[in-house]
Amino acid sequence: MYKVKILKSFSSAHYLAQYKGSCEVLHGHNWKVEVVVESKELNELGMVIDFRELKKITDLVLAELDHKCLNDLEYFKVNNPSSEIIAQYIYEKINRQLPSNCQLDKVRVWETDNSCATYSNKK
Ligand SMILES: [Zn+2]
Repeated sequence: MYKVKILKSFSSAHYLAQYKGSCEVLHGHNWKVEVVVESKELNELGMVIDFRELKKITDLVLAELDHKCLNDLEYFKVNNPSSEIIAQYIYEKINRQLPSNCQLDKVRVWETDNSCATYSNKK
């Protein structure tokens, strides 16, 4: 199995509804996002996926989150924007757009330098 990973980031605000603690109040993060794509076979160029293509797909997904209050977005009105749910959201959005030769392994979202959440839903 081959795997490739890209790192991206975005900045946004959020708050966690019904959370008893400081995260209940609106605050911001510079989120770091790891996207890992895997494939058993390489494409005709010897790649899992062109890094540029994966970055382009990821950038479009993250642009919807960047400089927003996540709680204002429809998806996060019904799904609390925790790091776990944000990772799942990004995963599902990217997964629909990948070429057929590869699949998404996981998406990891770093909320701080020391805390991250990972989502994976491989078939
Ligand atoms: Zn937070």
